[in-house]
Amino acid sequence: MVEIRDLDPSPRLLLGPGPCDAHPRVLRAMATPLLGHLDPEFVRILDETQELLRQVYQTSNPLTFAISGTGTAGMETCIVNLIEAGERMVVCVNGYFGQRMSEIAQRAGANVIVLDRPWGEAFDLNQIRAALERHRPKVLGIVHAETSTGVLQPMMGLGALCREFDALLLVDAVTSLGGVPVAVDAWGADSVYSCTQKGLAAPPGLSPVTFSPRAMETIRRRKTPVQSWYLDVTLLQRYWSAERFYHHTTPISMMYALREALRLVVEEGLEARWVRHRRNHLALKAGLEALGLTYVAKAEHILPVVNAVRIPAGVDDVAVRKRLLGEFGIEIGGGLGEFKGKVWRIGLIGYNSRPGVVLQFLGALERCLAASG
Ligand code: PLP
Repeated sequence: MVEIRDLDPSPRLLLGPGPCDAHPRVLRAMATPLLGHLDPEFVRILDETQELLRQVYQTSNPLTFAISGTGTAGMETCIVNLIEAGERMVVCVNGYFGQRMSEIAQRAGANVIVLDRPWGEAFDLNQIRAALERHRPKVLGIVHAETSTGVLQPMMGLGALCREFDALLLVDAVTSLGGVPVAVDAWGADSVYSCTQKGLAAPPGLSPVTFSPRAMETIRRRKTPVQSWYLDVTLLQRYWSAERFYHHTTPISMMYALREALRLVVEEGLEARWVRHRRNHLALKAGLEALGLTYVAKAEHILPVVNAVRIPAGVDDVAVRKRLLGEFGIEIGGGLGEFKGKVWRIGLIGYNSRPGVVLQFLGALERCLAASG
């Protein structure tokens, strides 16, 4: 019989695009004894978590809560609630996660119009305006921080543009929330989803979402029920409102984690947190460029939390990443899709956005690059 030993993973520094290391306070919160999901004390924890989420999302949307599932569950929730079979949705695709959004929308029965942009570039308002004018979709979907390319999409003006054409704005903030500004109300976004394992520095497992009153009104007027019972927000909102009506068993420990993670964000202050992420990104960028690496994104669109850089010619992608992990315990991300083998993605997110981490990583990378000639 094989002996199954105590759980004892090797120490790791998670500098990929996610999951990233959880803050020690978050891990401690997860060890808190369980409460029932309808216990009045847990209900208070839910209220507090929702209040904190509104602050971090910068929204007053009453329906702001966490889906039980990872970021993709949030993506699926937003799409299946907003879209009914045959309705038009324009999806902006300039990387892997835009592609995923369009695939999920297709499976939800949407009439999907893909708005393409080369990987590594951002969309401009004129291109989006032309698509809205031509296709008059019900929903426009866009990724704020495209993790596969390290591009940060400018958001200002997009909400007003969507309103001009009576479209709902759906935003993927999986890699941006907690690391760069996410301003749901100022953007005029109608439906936004994120995750716990990146800028919020908690483990993967929940997907914070928010829906504008306009989005909720659209959902109320649906002619057909949402195809997914589990992700139907008209059912979920009965639990995530004063009613607190049972829907499914909430992942209690993850809720403790999310509450503590959000408390940490608010304690630090949103502005201070963004400044910290930017400062550490700039230090890393200076180091990477000194080592001869170049960024995929144009300077004005670089996403500071996931540094996507081209792998230098002649350097073996897998060998370097294997060595970083084996010798230094550092994980970074390889390229996805058309960037496979061409790009490294170095995450400096949440708890890991610290000067000591930057120095530790640059030292290790320098050794690995020297070893591969
Ligand atoms: N959207 C973006 C931009 C992402 O980076 C990711 C994951 O990295 C997802 C969606 C999917 O999230 P998850 O892997 O948590 O399901």
